[in-house]
Amino acid sequence: MDGDGTRCVWGGHPPGAVGEPVHPGPVLSATFELGLPHDPQPEFFYGRADNPTWRAYETAVGELEGGECVAFASGMAALSAVMRLCARPGTAVVLPSDGYYIARLVASEELAPMGVEVREFGTAGAWEPLHGASLVLLETPSNPGLEVCDIRAIADAAHAAGAMVAVDNTTATPLGQKPLPLGADFVIASDTKALSGHGDVVLGHVTCADPILAGRVRAARTRSGAIPGPMEIWLAHRGLGTLDLRLERQAKNAHALVQALLGHPAASDVRWPGLPSDPSHAVASKQMRRWNGILRFTLPSAEAVGEFLAASHLVSSSTSFGGLQTSADRRERWGDAVPPGLLRVSAGCEDTDDLVADVLGALDAVRI
Ligand code: PLP
Repeated sequence: MDGDGTRCVWGGHPPGAVGEPVHPGPVLSATFELGLPHDPQPEFFYGRADNPTWRAYETAVGELEGGECVAFASGMAALSAVMRLCARPGTAVVLPSDGYYIARLVASEELAPMGVEVREFGTAGAWEPLHGASLVLLETPSNPGLEVCDIRAIADAAHAAGAMVAVDNTTATPLGQKPLPLGADFVIASDTKALSGHGDVVLGHVTCADPILAGRVRAARTRSGAIPGPMEIWLAHRGLGTLDLRLERQAKNAHALVQALLGHPAASDVRWPGLPSDPSHAVASKQMRRWNGILRFTLPSAEAVGEFLAASHLVSSSTSFGGLQTSADRRERWGDAVPPGLLRVSAGCEDTDDLVADVLGALDAVRI
């Protein structure tokens, strides 16, 4: 009963009880009955502190990741909670120079003015020096470059330097990579992406193997108020049920798209960690359990991207990733230090033949 697919389907769902709903709905109440003055404090008392619908989802995600999960209102709420919890004036926060750009903004705009040193390293480079660090944040595979770093090696070095280690696991998902057994103290993710999987909620979470640390994260959530809505959590829990199935199709489609892109003259710099010839493949294979649908490639210019998107019927031009529909995001638009024609593509769940035919047709429309 501990396969990934089974866990996704059953995780956090109540054992059957006669007359009880097999599929309970979201608990929307902001407040809970407290009883009389001498009654013990109930588990649930106020909707900013805890909620049964959150707990069901957190149980499911925690089981997949091997720790205690705390759900947040967004991936950024989760990330900034961990950054604020660990950062101390006079210490350094170390993070990727090529990862999700808003994490760098939290560091430079909020932590640096409080006397925290901000140190950035390229994901695939050497993560040193780490002395004086209070937090080392990794993102692997990175967004949008899909570079990979060795979680266990960097976690060992970071712990030796006295730092906590957080891994943004958004692109990999808990089915693709389990950072806690590799030495991470925190796993962070944007559940807006593949975990919820349908592009209809904005959510995030933090998971810790240490329940005391998880308790600190939970308390930080209660203080900040960066809480998820029960309805969003319920939708995400419903989406999580098919994560295993969706990832399988998305990875199959990504692999087929990569093969098609490699053979087309308009596309260059095609990257997908699942490809044996990819520079990240060796390290990724050591720590990743399966591949996913996120790839990247580069067209000659922003104009070429326009020609490609206008000619495609199955690739939507949108940011975010991990949804049912294939999408492409021109990352220079957001200020990432990448060529104007670089597209991060999220392969969806369409029929593989349809998707490859559509993308090849759209590539043919690019003037080179
Ligand atoms: N981490 C990564 C790798 C992301 O790609 C994103 C969003 O794109 C985030 C964190 C932030 O998540 P959210 O948009 O749910 O706040």
